[in-house]
Amino acid sequence: MNLFADLLAASGGAKATATGPRIQQRRGVEVKSARELKIMARASNIVASVLREIMASVEPGQTTADLDALAERRIRELGATPSFKGYHGFPASICASINNEVVHGIPSAKRVIRKGDLLKVDTGAYFEGYHGDSCVTICVGEVPEQARTLSRVAQESLMAGLAQIKAGNTLLDIAGAVEDHVKANGFSVVEDYTGHGVGRNLHEEPSVFNFRTDELPNVTLRPGMTLAVEPILNAGSKRCRTLKDRWTVVTQDGSLSAQWEHTIVVTSDGCEILTDRGDC
Ligand code: MG
Ligand code: MG
Repeated sequence: MNLFADLLAASGGAKATATGPRIQQRRGVEVKSARELKIMARASNIVASVLREIMASVEPGQTTADLDALAERRIRELGATPSFKGYHGFPASICASINNEVVHGIPSAKRVIRKGDLLKVDTGAYFEGYHGDSCVTICVGEVPEQARTLSRVAQESLMAGLAQIKAGNTLLDIAGAVEDHVKANGFSVVEDYTGHGVGRNLHEEPSVFNFRTDELPNVTLRPGMTLAVEPILNAGSKRCRTLKDRWTVVTQDGSLSAQWEHTIVVTSDGCEILTDRGDC
């Protein structure tokens, strides 16, 4: 679940050029068929309904293991399997990251959710060979004003990025919209982790970056591409570090972090949000 560009770089496909971002070879990014999109819509809908349930039911005093158990039970009841469980050895069906934890928090029966927490829940469902992937940030009860604002701006930045998606635009259009909205609000964009293509694999090409860069391959969007767009915002520095459990990523300066994510499909004149919960 690291920067997907690492995989591209390892295969020699992501070399930046001195002249600016290179347009990635089209063959690297899959375009899904109507049949595949129908299945992905179902997988994504399962993710959306599980997250909706968690958002409606989370309470102070629960543990992150409680949420994980709920997510796994519901994903399986809905006919799918958890995308995350066992992925590169990850032990659970959700990532639960609280406050200064950025991504990949491991659910635990010892981790009690408290009033005032800024809780990120990320999950995926694998259905008939395809994945859906989405993340929400939940304000648990009354939270500090900065936490509420950070979550709101993170969600707005996701929607600003999605508003740039249509055939013919590029990943840089998404990235620029996200970055501008985040900077205008005084927060920082995490650069160590990006969105990604999604489909038969949880993480596919391309790397969907949330900041302007000429070091990652740019891609022209085409109808049928399926992407997970997932800006991560820190209240302070963008810098992150990984804890000794080798999964949990935290902000280096201890500041709060927020993230929202949707799986979408590019259309000729926009995008369709496959993990839409009906609440943005
Ligand atoms: Mg995710
Ligand atoms: Mg993702």
